[in-house]
Amino acid sequence: MVYIVGAGPGAEDLITVRGLKLLGQADLVIYAGSLVNPALLKETKPGCRIFNSAEMTLEQVMEKIQQAEEKGEMTVRLHTGDPSLYGAIREQMDWMDQRGISYEICPGVSSFCGAAAALEMEYTLPEVSQSVIITRMAGRTPVPEKESISSFAAHQSLMVIFLSAGMLEALKKQLIEGGYPEDTPAAIVYKATWPQEKVVRCLLKELDVRGKEEKISKTALVIVGKAVAQKGYERSRLYAPEFETEFRKGNPPGTEGN
Ligand code: SAH
Repeated sequence: MVYIVGAGPGAEDLITVRGLKLLGQADLVIYAGSLVNPALLKETKPGCRIFNSAEMTLEQVMEKIQQAEEKGEMTVRLHTGDPSLYGAIREQMDWMDQRGISYEICPGVSSFCGAAAALEMEYTLPEVSQSVIITRMAGRTPVPEKESISSFAAHQSLMVIFLSAGMLEALKKQLIEGGYPEDTPAAIVYKATWPQEKVVRCLLKELDVRGKEEKISKTALVIVGKAVAQKGYERSRLYAPEFETEFRKGNPPGTEGN
C-alpha cells in the first residue's frame, strides 16, 4: 500500500494527525527534499528506508515503490503542502494504476494556507473579494495560454501565485498589464510557517524591488489583491443577529428573538 501524504507547509507540527501516524508506520519513505521539513523524518520507525526524491527521477521513485510493494511493505510518498497543488502526483498514480498498486491520498495544509496565517488574513473578505485564484507563472512547466497571469488579473480578485518568486519583475508587469492598479496591496511570504519565515508587505508596483531587497527568489508565495489590506469589508451575514441559519434562530433588531 502506498500513501501519498501532504507534509504541510513547513513547520513540523503542521502535518495532519493521520499523516503523522502513516509516517510512523512506513517501511519506505520517499520525501520531496527541496521543501519537506527533514525534522519530520525522525517520526519514522527504526529500519525505515528513507529517500529524497529531489535527487531521483520518476522512474527511480517508482522502482523503489515497486520493490517495497513486492515485499508487502508500506510506503509513504511525502509531498510538500497539499499534494494536489503542483505535486506531480498524477503521473505517479497513473504509474501505480497501470501496475495494480493501491494507493490513498492523505491531504495536507497547503502553503497558501500557511501564508494566510502568516499574514493574519482572511482571503475571502465580504464585499472585497470572494474568490481566490491559485496560479503560477510559466516556467519549465508551461501554463495554458487561457490561464495567463494577465487574463486572471482582469478579475482583480485575490490571487496567490506559486513558483514565481524568481520572476517578480515579469510577474509585476503582467499583473499590472492585466488590470490590477499599480497601488494594489501585495505581499511576499517566504517560507511560511518555517523558522525563517519572512513577510513582506508592499504595493504591487514595489513587488520586484522589495523582493530583491529581501533577497527572496524562491520558496515564496506572492499574494496580490485589494483583500491583502484587509479593509473595506462588510460584516458577514452568517453571524449577523438578524440572520437565521439552519443552526441558529434569527434575532432581528427590536425583537426578543426566536
Ligand atoms: N504542494 C505545495 C506546493 C508545491 S510547489 C503546497 O500545497 O504548498 C512549490 C512552491 O510552493 C514554491 O515554489 C513556493 O511558491 C510554494 N511554497 C511551498 N512551501 C512554501 C512555504 N512554506 N512558504 C511559501 N511558499 C511555499
